[in-house]
Formats: sequence, C-alpha cells, structure tokens
Amino acid sequence: MLRFALFLLVANAVYAFQGPPPAAVPSTAADLARLIRESGMDPAECYRVRDLSFVKDDIKLYLNDGYLIFSKPVMGQRLSAIFTTDVEGGDGEVIVIPPTRSERQSLAAFTQSPNLDEHVKTILMILTDDSMAVLRTALEQQGEAAKKAPSAGALLAEHWDPVVANISGPMQMRLVADLWSVRPGKTGLALFVISGATLGNFDILSDARSNHRMIMRQRVERDGRDEINVWTDFLPRRITSKTSGDQRPLAPRPAPQPDWEFTLSNYRIDAEIANDLGVRAVTRVSAQIGPDPVRAFPFDIARNMQVSAVRIDGAPAELMRDESLRGRIRGGTEEVEFLAVSPVPLLPGSKHEFEFVHHGNVIATRGDGVYFVSARGSWYPHIPGQFATYDLNFRYPKRLTLVAAGDPVEDRIDGDSRITRRRMNAAVGAAGFNLGIYEKVTGTAAGVNFEVYGNRNLEESLRPPVTLSGPTPSPQLPTRARGARVAQPSMTIPFAPDPLARLSAVAGDVAASLEFFSGMFGPPVMKTLTVAPIPGGFGQGFPGLVYLSTFAYIDSVSRPAALRDAREQVFYSDLMVPHEVGHQWWGSVISTAHSEDEWLLEALANYSSLLWLEKKKGVKEMGAVLNGYRSELLEKDSQGKTYESAGPIVWGERLNSQPSTRTWRAITYGKGSWIMHMLRRRMGDEAFFKLLAELRRRYEFKLVTTADFQALARELRPKGLSAEGVDAFFDNWVYATGIPTLKLRYTVSGVAPAVKLSGSIDQSGAGDDFSMDAPVEVQFAKGPPQTIWVRTTGDDNTFTANLRQLPVRVVIPDDVLVKK
Ligand SMILES: [Zn+2]
Repeated sequence: MLRFALFLLVANAVYAFQGPPPAAVPSTAADLARLIRESGMDPAECYRVRDLSFVKDDIKLYLNDGYLIFSKPVMGQRLSAIFTTDVEGGDGEVIVIPPTRSERQSLAAFTQSPNLDEHVKTILMILTDDSMAVLRTALEQQGEAAKKAPSAGALLAEHWDPVVANISGPMQMRLVADLWSVRPGKTGLALFVISGATLGNFDILSDARSNHRMIMRQRVERDGRDEINVWTDFLPRRITSKTSGDQRPLAPRPAPQPDWEFTLSNYRIDAEIANDLGVRAVTRVSAQIGPDPVRAFPFDIARNMQVSAVRIDGAPAELMRDESLRGRIRGGTEEVEFLAVSPVPLLPGSKHEFEFVHHGNVIATRGDGVYFVSARGSWYPHIPGQFATYDLNFRYPKRLTLVAAGDPVEDRIDGDSRITRRRMNAAVGAAGFNLGIYEKVTGTAAGVNFEVYGNRNLEESLRPPVTLSGPTPSPQLPTRARGARVAQPSMTIPFAPDPLARLSAVAGDVAASLEFFSGMFGPPVMKTLTVAPIPGGFGQGFPGLVYLSTFAYIDSVSRPAALRDAREQVFYSDLMVPHEVGHQWWGSVISTAHSEDEWLLEALANYSSLLWLEKKKGVKEMGAVLNGYRSELLEKDSQGKTYESAGPIVWGERLNSQPSTRTWRAITYGKGSWIMHMLRRRMGDEAFFKLLAELRRRYEFKLVTTADFQALARELRPKGLSAEGVDAFFDNWVYATGIPTLKLRYTVSGVAPAVKLSGSIDQSGAGDDFSMDAPVEVQFAKGPPQTIWVRTTGDDNTFTANLRQLPVRVVIPDDVLVKK
C-alpha cells in the first residue's frame, strides 16, 4: 500500500519559492492550515462561463453554461473553484471512461453504465496539482466570452464558503503539504466533488502522490453506517499504456517504482512495556531527501499510538495530526497519518535524523500470559512500501518473553525487567513484535535460524465451558426435606486443549517449508525467523516474524467445533504454517503498493503452501484443497450469485463491500490459488517455477504490480504459448470473472502409429467474451498423457491431433477451474 491514503489525504511538502513571498508567509503548518481554512471564495474572481472545457488525465469536464468562482489565494495559489449550473439553461457534464474492462465492469456495477457521462448541477474542485493552471488557461482562452460576475460571486461565496470548509477541513495536512511543494505536478491532487443530475453526489480524485491514480467514489449509508462505494480505481492511460485511448493495454507496461520525496533507513527503536502493557517508545530513523527540498514529512502510525514529540536533527519539529479523521485499515489495524514539519525546507540529497516519542496501548490480554498484539506493523511511525533495517530494543516485565523480527543481540534480566534486543541483517517493510509466557523449539533450516514459540497457558476463549451432565437439576434449591432424595448433578470438565500440543509439529513444518521454498525461490532475506502465537483464527507473516493462530498449535480434535470440518483442519494443520512462511518471500522480499496488486502476495503465499502440501502429502491432497476452493467460489450468496461473480480478483479490498466478506476471501485465496495453478499448468512446471524465482530476483526490495507479473510471464513463457495467450489468460482469469462449463466431444480414427483425434469443446455459462486455453488430456495405456490446449470462445471450438497410439481416455482434467 502506498502511503497516500485516498480517503485521508495527507502529503509531503516543499517550500514554494514563487516570486516574492506574499505578505503573510506562515511560519508553521498550523498557521498555514488556518490561512487555508479562512480563505473563502473570491467574489472578484467569479465568471459567467459558456463552453469551457478541460481535461485531467481520463476525466473530461465540460462547463457548458454556468458560473465559475475561484477561492482567494493562499501563498499566491488558489486552491479551489466551484462551477454551478444554477442559471437558466445551465449545464455541465463529466465524462470518464475507465481504461480497463474490469474497471468498466466495476463502474457499471454501481452506475449501470461502464462509462460515466453525467450532467451535473455543481462541481467543487480542490486542485493542488497543475490542474488549476490548466483551468485558468482555459478560462483565459475564453476571452470576452467569460464575463466577470462579482455580484453573483458574492452570493455564491456566502453559500459555498461553509461547504468548501467542510470538505477541505479534513484535508488540511495534505493541503499544507501540497502548498509547500515545489513540484505540484508530482505531489498534488485534483479532487472533483460532483453533484450529478442522476447519480447524486460523488467525487473523483486524481492523486499524483499515488502514481496519478484516479478513484471515483460515493458515500452511502448501509445498515445505518456511513460507507464508501468505490466505483472505480485505476491508473490513467497516460501511465499504463503508450497509446492513449487504448481500451486494453495489450503489452502491460510495468508501473514505475514510487518517486519518493524522501527515503527512510536504519530504524532504531527503544520501547518500554509497562506492567499494564502500555508501550512507550522512542523511534529514531534516518531520512535521505530526494531530488527536491522537503519541509513536511508524512508518516503513518496505528491510531492507538500517540506521537507526543518529533525532533529533526535534535531540534524540536512541528507535529500535525488530525484526530477527527477516519484512518485506514491495514493488516487489521486502523492507521492514521501525521506530519512532521521541519522549520525550514531540508535540502535535496541531505541526510537527517528523525526522532519520535510515542506511546499507546497495542497489547491486549487474552488470558494468563496470553496476549494479543494489535498494531503488528504500525506501532511506530513508518512509511508503507519503504524498506529499512531495524534495531529493536525492548524493556519489559521479566516474567514475559518478548520476541521480535531480527537476529537476537541481547537478552538479559535487569532488576524486575528483561531486556531484549534484536537487529536485522536486511532491509524490510515492517517490524513487529510479540510477547507471552512461552515454550520454544529452535533449529536451523536453509541457513536460517528459526525459533518457534508457543503459549504455555491457554487463552480464555479456548477454555472449555463447565458443563453439567446427569439429571437436570431442579431449578429450586434442593430442600433438606427429610427423606427427599435429590439427584446430585455430576460436573464434567471436558479435556482442555493443550496450547503446546503441536509445537514441534509446527516447528517441523517451519523448517521443512523454509528448506523447500529456499530451494525454489532463493534464500529468504532474514537470517532469523521467529514464529509465535496470536489468539484468533488468522496468521500473519511479517519479515522475520510470523504470527500464527493459536488454533495451529492445538490438536485437531481439540479445535472449536466450527473448525472441525476437513477444510478448516487442513488449513490450520497443513497450510497456515507454509502460507505464513511463504510470506517471507511474498510480502517480505517483494511487496506491493496498491490494493489491486495485493492479491498477488496472498495468491503466491497460498499457492506456495499448496506446493508444500503437494510435496508433503501428494497431488491428491492438493487437488482436494483446490476442489474446496472451487466449491466455495461457486457457492451462491443471498442474491443467488456465485461468490466468484462478485468481481475480478484485482478489485482487492473492494470485494469486501460485496454482500459477504467471504467473497473477498474466496476470491483472493481460492481463485488466487487457482490462477497460480492454472498458470503453472499452462506454462509448464519449468517455466512457471522460473517465473516465481525470477519474480523474487528481479523485484527484490521493490514493489511489484499485476502488470509486472504479467509482463514477466510473457517474457518467460515457453514455446507453444504466445504472448497473446498469456494476455488472454490474465484478461479472463485476473481482470474478469467467470467459471465456465466445458463439454468435450471427440472421435478417434485410424490405427497406430497414425491415429487421428478430432473433437470440439462447448463453453457455456461464463459470458460470450470469456475465452480460455482449455486443456484436453489424452491418456494412453503406456507413457505419460499428452495435453492439447484448445482456445475456447462461446461457440464450438474444434481441434485435431495426430497421435502415435490409441488413447485410453480423452478428458478435460480436474485441475482446471471449470464447473464440474
Ligand atoms: Zn497471507
């Protein structure tokens, strides 16, 4: 995830040297924010406009007939403008055509049309990139046609000032940062808040700090809660394809790596954990300034961590944080952004030391000596997507054991405290910690020292309830009536699960999967891998530190009843460990920046766990898991639609807003694994495994996108698979939805060694434009089967093949995602 939240706009800034400084140059971010807040619309800059149009990347705005008013300048810049059609015959129009099929499908799901063409009542614009200059130029080109209308302006200002303040208020950090920027084209944003004639209120955001990503969204009320529907979210054609207007970029252009304004390295964190589990920390980190001067530095942190002071090079710096804002959920934790503001711009290329003092509650108790760490990668100020080394020093109550990512450097008792220090040998994207009263198993595998910890005590929620058996006791107290015999209920306490039952089994799988994956994907970057439990049904794999569900540590028979079906048991007993160990590569060595690419890391980690299962228990076991995913994808929701049809996998977290959150899970893990499996099947083992190893090698410590992965698959495709075939695979399985039904018919003629096989495949149930390479497996009495790939469309798809011997069976094999 790139750092610049789309719903919580905050950014970087640089001092703007634009001619002589205006009279009131604010000296602090707070002063500048106040100036922005109080600026208001400028009645002297109100125009009656006709046929004024301008284009911002893939957004076309037509201000056909109405008033256009600008805000008063702040530091010489006008930040907002309003177009209103509130005149007789007034009209305006907004047109957006998303560049990809999947995004047009997404837009259509909300607006019933794959393209946006909406007449508007008003457009409120907040423009901190170069769009304001474009709009002003368009206005100047109108010449006499645009007349100043100060009296209308006065009325409009009165009406709109509070509205603009309402919308820009929550963006104050971002606006401050953008105003100080010397390169608005790389740091600014264009936000259009639109009141549409038919669609109601919605907005369109183009954010230069997020690779110029465009996002259209609408606030809605769902079940009494305020929610946001993301209609579409895409990189504009300018970024993704060489020819503008391309409907579907056939040769995906790898997205550029982020253009950081500054980069972090060498974290040093001193943290103290009190008896009440409150965390106080001082985080120090080095920052290298990029090609432009920077004054405001945005960081992310967990909402329940408060930053109380910032120093830059030892001198106090200004801190700006907006508590009122809703943060962004990342990795299950709500994160917010804040600005560290230097009193002067820091010069390009210079290196500085940042120091943050912060405290908060990120550890909860789940039983005696059993804890839940909530802010696992966000308990300190950080920038998602950047890689740095960490030196972590903890002081905490001595009855506990604290573990963290990195190699152990120090571990000693000091009075009532224990001191644990870990240091990393390689740069990673995040550093977590965990703590408890532990048992441990250690060892070495693939050159990695691993430590697997388990809780000695059982968390409260897994303790068996006390149940009564025997005759139901009378609701009344048994009286001591003479001669009365009252049956005594017998109490039974079912066997309590042992929280360490599978500790050595887990350690065995950690070791074996480390070896297995190192052989396939190259060595992991961390020299120490620590695995420790977390209460709840999930796991999380951070670089060098895995949080493993406590369910994975207890015997299958002791797991809660809801987890006792075969699929859940395989998940906790066989797949969770290798999945999280897989994240040592997918998510640690390489990472992603955008929600549309996150599926890659999950699909790769999960498919890695399936490869491990295939090696450990055989291809049948792996097939059973894939079949389970198939059934889940084909399950129907309350509206009778299959989970799979909710949307393409690249919609990412947007799939969560579908009726069931199982949709996102089913698609990300289930379909994601199928995508990897079918790509393997289509490319062949050799080319596919080379693809995975090369992905790791080429994108080490970089951010990878779906387009990068597709481009690499094209590059490494085997003979017999065209580049167009790779694109068709991604178009249909990754960027679209559909699980077809295939019907195979065939005839065999001739005699060995000149046997002729001819047949056809009928495809149905996945839409007319769905097309796949369907495998036809020809099995013989002797020797391995032969696979013929047949490209399907809706209709008859015929094929022929010359065989050397008579086939025994000709089938579409099970390991392809079609309806069975
Ligand atoms: Zn995962």
